[in-house]
Amino acid sequence: MRNKVCPNCHTNLYDFLKTGMLGCPTCYQAFKEEVNEMLLKVQGKTIHVGKEIKRGVDEELLAEYERLLKEKERAGLNSRFSEMVLINSELEILKEELERRGLR
Ligand SMILES: [Zn+2]
Repeated sequence: MRNKVCPNCHTNLYDFLKTGMLGCPTCYQAFKEEVNEMLLKVQGKTIHVGKEIKRGVDEELLAEYERLLKEKERAGLNSRFSEMVLINSELEILKEELERRGLR
């Protein structure tokens, strides 16, 4: 595998794979493929959310979406970027579901 380096904080791909920690939001762009691969491995959490979505009513979905947006903001303020990546993947799923229901 070719090593990559984040142009912003100089975290390299090997560091990321070893620690699972992104140094900054730009890392997410730089290591996008690898991050997505990693997300596939930790998708248990995402699938869990998916199941809840199917049972949820519209208002609950919207509330959950808002909650995750706030959580993502909080994670960003605390530099928990790998958490942001996870929350992002949940937001994507929720957004799709909201769009499917015509709520967004
Ligand atoms: Zn970075």
